[in-house]
Amino acid sequence: MEKFIFNEEFAYAKASHPSGASLSIVAPAIFMFGTEENKKEWLPKIMASEADFALGYSEPNAGTDLAGLQTTVVLDGDEWVINGQKPWNTFGHKVTHQWTAVRTDPTAPKHKGISVIIIPNNAPGVTLVKQRTWGNHTTNDVFFENVRVPKNNLIGEVNQGWRAVNLKRILKLLSEKEKNKKEKGNLPSKSRG
Ligand SMILES: Cc1cc2nc3c(=O)[nH]c(=O)nc-3n(C[C@H](O)[C@H](O)[C@H](O)COP(=O)(O)OP(=O)(O)OC[C@H]3O[C@@H](n4cnc5c(N)ncnc54)[C@H](O)[C@@H]3O)c2cc1C
Repeated sequence: MEKFIFNEEFAYAKASHPSGASLSIVAPAIFMFGTEENKKEWLPKIMASEADFALGYSEPNAGTDLAGLQTTVVLDGDEWVINGQKPWNTFGHKVTHQWTAVRTDPTAPKHKGISVIIIPNNAPGVTLVKQRTWGNHTTNDVFFENVRVPKNNLIGEVNQGWRAVNLKRILKLLSEKEKNKKEKGNLPSKSRG
């Protein structure tokens, strides 16, 4: 309900508004699984609409079987170097950043070698090609060719990215957290005896 009111008020004021993906997926995932540094850097930028996200999950050979994704990333000094392709990138051409699921450990079981990395659309080596679907939906193919991003653009821990793309689990954890907070708020404090 709070989110609904927030969206209504933003629309009414014609204020610049973070995308649905930023508010419903990226911000909650950073809140739940990001490092303190991740939270300090990205949450204020999302709220100020300075960073807005499209989802870079699907790949040509990883759709329904998302854990089969193959976009590679290797650490080179203080930077990650990313190579791969992400089709079906809704709103990619309208946002500033890609919330990208990548494979950090090709030797681990599928779900365990995945991380999430934030890639600015304007980083050298990022190419977006617009595609229009039969349903008149504009989407994009995004290509990453030796794209370099700072080490801190990786969200949370390396190889723990599956948790950050599992929206159902994120929302469940958030609602449990909120419930616990409310229950604690209802407990009589010791000082009141
Ligand atoms: C309009 C639109 C916008 C999208 N936006 C985004 C986006 O912003 N970001 C993003 O990352 N992705 C996006 N997607 C991708 C989407 O969410 C799915 O990941 C993708 O459509 C599924 O992959 P695929 O097309 O390769 O199909 P496949 O995975 O090849 O599946 C094809 C068919 O086979 C079925 N199938 C697959 N595996 C099995 C199985 N083991 N058993 C039985 N049936 C199976 C599927 O149900 C489906 O009917 C978008 C898709 C659409 C249509």
